[in-house]
Amino acid sequence: MAKSRPPRSEIPPTAGLPPRWRDLSPFAGNAPHHGDLARCAADFLGVEEVQVECSGTASLVVALTAMHRLSGRRAVIVPAYTCPLVALAVAHCGLELRLCDLAPGSIDFDAAQLARLCDRDTLAAVPTHLAGRVADVGTALAIAREAGAFVIEDAAQALGARRGGRPVGLDGDAGFFSLAVGKGLTTFEGGLLVARDAPLRRELARTSREIVPYRFGWELERSLQLLGYHALYRPSLLGLAYGAPLRRALRRGDPVAAVGDDFSADIPLHTLGRWRQSVGARAFARLPSFLQTCTAQAMRRKTRLARIAGVTLIDDPADAAGSWPFLLLRLRDEATRDAALRVLWGAGLGVSRLFIRALPDYGYLQPFVGEHQVPNARAFAATTLTISSSPWLDDEAFEAICTVLQTVATAA
Ligand SMILES: *Cc1c(COP(=O)(O)O)cnc(C)c1O
Repeated sequence: MAKSRPPRSEIPPTAGLPPRWRDLSPFAGNAPHHGDLARCAADFLGVEEVQVECSGTASLVVALTAMHRLSGRRAVIVPAYTCPLVALAVAHCGLELRLCDLAPGSIDFDAAQLARLCDRDTLAAVPTHLAGRVADVGTALAIAREAGAFVIEDAAQALGARRGGRPVGLDGDAGFFSLAVGKGLTTFEGGLLVARDAPLRRELARTSREIVPYRFGWELERSLQLLGYHALYRPSLLGLAYGAPLRRALRRGDPVAAVGDDFSADIPLHTLGRWRQSVGARAFARLPSFLQTCTAQAMRRKTRLARIAGVTLIDDPADAAGSWPFLLLRLRDEATRDAALRVLWGAGLGVSRLFIRALPDYGYLQPFVGEHQVPNARAFAATTLTISSSPWLDDEAFEAICTVLQTVATAA
């Protein structure tokens, strides 16, 4: 929208681990752990076992189904600002969705409201490590335990994030990571499910065997999509795959389509095939050093952003070291944020938005969500924007973004 001509190169909105053609070798035998993705993920996280599912959403469906079987309870408490797929997963399981507002300017639950929402029918609360930031699971856990409820950590955006030296996802009862496009390491779609205690892990595995079938059609489709991703994930071609549709959506004034928030209520549930698992297994070898690069860059850029008045970087608690798929910034107000986006969104610089709305404000979620007063979630949606942590966004381009942020901040 800012530029009439499309940019020559396109920075992706998140730091995807750059794919390598050799990841695609059909010979799983020469991949680490013979292409066993669960084993590679468990090594990376330093845990005994990881359960592989076809998406983050599917991981949540499996966890909720298993927990519902164990406790019989029905209410699931999720942040009022999160991925709409989380709400759809709860609906898919036939469970009751309860929204909890965020604390002001934070990704964490409003603790007082969470305590009010927890009761004897509460199955689980889902604290969420949004944007790779490390959420306050301890408080959510204390409140949920009081009511006898489970805690599931949504770490879909936080593979590699740690707190107190341990990976996120293991302080609650269960946690999940997403391997979808745009979340870092990808099998085009995929999910990793972890649980702290072995008995619950066995229940999660049993539930998965019961409700998740093999589907040839889905595996074929995802395999072709993964090949397409390998072909197009480079600055010279991302304009075609990502930039052009983005700019079309912005021109029609459809921000939900621009960020791909327009999800279908049909949640695919199928096993993740062997070949895609071996692609992911090979990619895991490059993940630690890639995450280090992204973190070092984020630390430098954090210092730069701190010099811009009216811009707040959403950061981690002192004992935490999150992952940095992108930088999540809060601006003074919606008008300032929108002024920045008019220049930067669609300019090919990797500036974007996270989820466009608070959950009650998506039309297609109305049947599951209903009316809610969630002012902090709405303010978060209205005042935040994201800057990619992709290493392809060089310092010069980042400085250009900072200049725009500075200009709109002073104009306000
Ligand atoms: C992406 C995402 C999910 C869902 O993960 P998929 O792998 O896309 O199904 C859940 N929660 C959050 C916060 C996410 O960003």
